[in-house]
Amino acid sequence: MIALTNIKKTFGDNTVLDGIDLIVKKGDVVTILGPSGSGKTTFLRCINFLEKADEGEVSINQFTVQCQKPNRKDILTLRQKTTMVFQQYNLFKHKTVIENIMEGLVIVQKLPKEEAKQRSLDVLEKVGLAEKANAYPSQLSGGQQQRVGIARALALNPEVILFDEPTSALDPELVGEVLSVIRKIAEEGITMIIVTHEMSFAREVSNHVVFMDGGKIVEQGHPEDIFLNPKEDRTKQFFKRIN
Ligand code: ATP
Repeated sequence: MIALTNIKKTFGDNTVLDGIDLIVKKGDVVTILGPSGSGKTTFLRCINFLEKADEGEVSINQFTVQCQKPNRKDILTLRQKTTMVFQQYNLFKHKTVIENIMEGLVIVQKLPKEEAKQRSLDVLEKVGLAEKANAYPSQLSGGQQQRVGIARALALNPEVILFDEPTSALDPELVGEVLSVIRKIAEEGITMIIVTHEMSFAREVSNHVVFMDGGKIVEQGHPEDIFLNPKEDRTKQFFKRIN
């Protein structure tokens, strides 16, 4: 179980996260929705300390880190339990697809090279890109690059995968292939937290939806409740505007 407690973050005098509490159970697929600037990405980045929250607590399967005074070792441990899939893929351009995936397995997880290679091939198979193992990122479409990004996250076998708007840098015709890969790994029971603007995907794939506005969770619950029967005015307005 993941417990995020009272997460607060300000940039200068801009309060971006104003005390966020969230529980994510094993196997949950949680989507985080909300207007631009509501703090979704910042919240996600605070979970693995890519951004350091000013206050609060991050706890993953009872490994707990206080945001205010983390030590380096705790942050590294936490990062082994979480992996992030970025909007812009963040692949190493001078490495092949398989080298991109093996990197973390060999350098961070200290896996023997052969084992790392086999695991990388397995996850590439899963995202439908085994035949691109020796290609360079520049030889792939944006959708394929993002699928490599997902394979890389998956290979590390984390306790949770954090997705930061994984399709928002893609041309519309490439969005579908990435969403179907995410849908497929969601069905395998991998815990995920996904910041997205893809409403129909959120409704279909997640079992828990969080609606944020102004650095707070306004409302959360089962997708059918949040989409069809939101209780808070701000949630209603948000869905009215995007529909
Ligand atoms: P979007 O849907 O547009 O990506 P979001 O809900 O993910 O938005 P964030 O990216 O978390 O929102 O940003 C929330 C607020 O924090 C914004 O006002 C943004 O300008 C501010 N912010 C984010 N990162 C920084 C930073 N590194 N320095 C200063 N301000 C920041």
